[in-house]
Amino acid sequence: MMDDLHPGGQPTDGMGCHAGADQMEAAARAAGKSDILDQYAKDYPQGPHDKPQSMCPAFGSLRVGLRMRRVATVLSGSACCVYGLTFVSHFYGARRSVGYVPFNSETLVTGKLFEDIREAVHKMADPAKYDAIVVTNLCVPTASGVPLRLLPDEINGVRIVGIDVPGFGIPTHAEAKDVLAGAMLKYAREEIEAGPVAAPEAGMSDRPTVTMLGEMFPADPMSIGAMLAPMGLAAGPVVPCREWRELYAALDCGAVAAIHPFYTAAIREFEAAGRPIVGSAPVGHDGTAAWLSAIGDAFGLPKDQVAASQNTFLPAIKGALAANPIKGTVTLSGYEGSELLVARLLIESGAHVPYVGTACQKTRWSEADRDWLEAHGATVKFRASLEDDLSAMEAVKPDLAIGTTPVVQKGKELGIPALYFTNLISARPLMGPAGAGSLAQVINAAIGNKDRMSDMKAFFEGVGHGDTAGVWEGEPNLQPAFRAQHQKKLEKRARAAKAAEMI
Ligand code: SF4
Repeated sequence: MMDDLHPGGQPTDGMGCHAGADQMEAAARAAGKSDILDQYAKDYPQGPHDKPQSMCPAFGSLRVGLRMRRVATVLSGSACCVYGLTFVSHFYGARRSVGYVPFNSETLVTGKLFEDIREAVHKMADPAKYDAIVVTNLCVPTASGVPLRLLPDEINGVRIVGIDVPGFGIPTHAEAKDVLAGAMLKYAREEIEAGPVAAPEAGMSDRPTVTMLGEMFPADPMSIGAMLAPMGLAAGPVVPCREWRELYAALDCGAVAAIHPFYTAAIREFEAAGRPIVGSAPVGHDGTAAWLSAIGDAFGLPKDQVAASQNTFLPAIKGALAANPIKGTVTLSGYEGSELLVARLLIESGAHVPYVGTACQKTRWSEADRDWLEAHGATVKFRASLEDDLSAMEAVKPDLAIGTTPVVQKGKELGIPALYFTNLISARPLMGPAGAGSLAQVINAAIGNKDRMSDMKAFFEGVGHGDTAGVWEGEPNLQPAFRAQHQKKLEKRARAAKAAEMI
């Protein structure tokens, strides 16, 4: 395939998440995106996990936009990326179309792509239909320097929010949610500074509110609200929000609970608005006790007001944990950002959790959870790679592995019961008394499947593995000589690339 050239002269088209991240980044910098890439490097520090090992990161921001009322989303990127992203978003139940501005080598090189995007948003900007239009540059347009910042801020009263979400700058889809949440909060904060704004449709709370950061099970904000009520406080909006006006209410809070601790851009906006941030979350007995105290401190509440809530809810949480014990060793990993909270709950339920891996970065707001987990015998790995998660599972040989799809697949191969974090664990209540007993049933049922997994492993024994997988009538037709020859070619190519770098 011919590589296309972007205006900065670096080849960009034909690259993707599986090739040339360094080259893409160099191209993006040459094309004037250094500021934004430097900000991403600060917000989402990388290494050792520095490239997507899961789905395309842009899925995170796409999903946030698609879930908001009266918000349109438009992607600008390679057709294959957009196909994959729209497919996944509809698989996960998006009820709206995803806009797409296609490009080819010529429109990318000449800058016509930007003109096409501008024309598309002008055509779409109907205030009867939309409060905002989100335009997202994927890898190739970011590397080519398509300047979304030059789009108008607003057309006919419809806000235009342009973001770059390249796989070579944003390590996980969780952090891509923060890119859009942060961009929207910044826009809304500047609107508030400029003058009065509309109240949310759901109305305003008469008590001081706590804004919650991170997508949660729908019952969790209600549980949190119930625990805040005896303290004279109320649960505010959850960010990412579901409608534009909620952003104003979110900024109008008394404190922000960083339930998911990786929302660095969103936190920057809340701090700019003068809001204190509280880390961790009300999970399990210890987590809830500490979190309620921290919220009380953030609002400067008297101790007895905090104790009123603690005395009401902590015994109920203790009771729920005791009534729903989990026995067994569990390794846990994921890329949602809530892994540490789930691990706390498992340990308080009685499980032994020697390893917790999260693809997200370490932040100030995850420190309390990490300290608690380490004090309870867990090794916590931030920016964990798939290799980290697999080697932990292979070394520990747990009764249950909770993880991403490839971890679960490997677990099954080894005869270890395994559960998907995203679909089966993070889609349950975790907070307060409702969360305390919610994991036991699914975890214990999975651990109880150990014998079935062993039977299955025995049943499939001998069907082959890797490139010899399957049932063979004769011996698999292995060609080690071809493989060695190909390996030599790869090594030669790598040496030539290295030599070219040194010229
Ligand atoms: S936009 Fe996503 S799918 Fe496309 S190349 Fe970048 S990381 Fe990969």
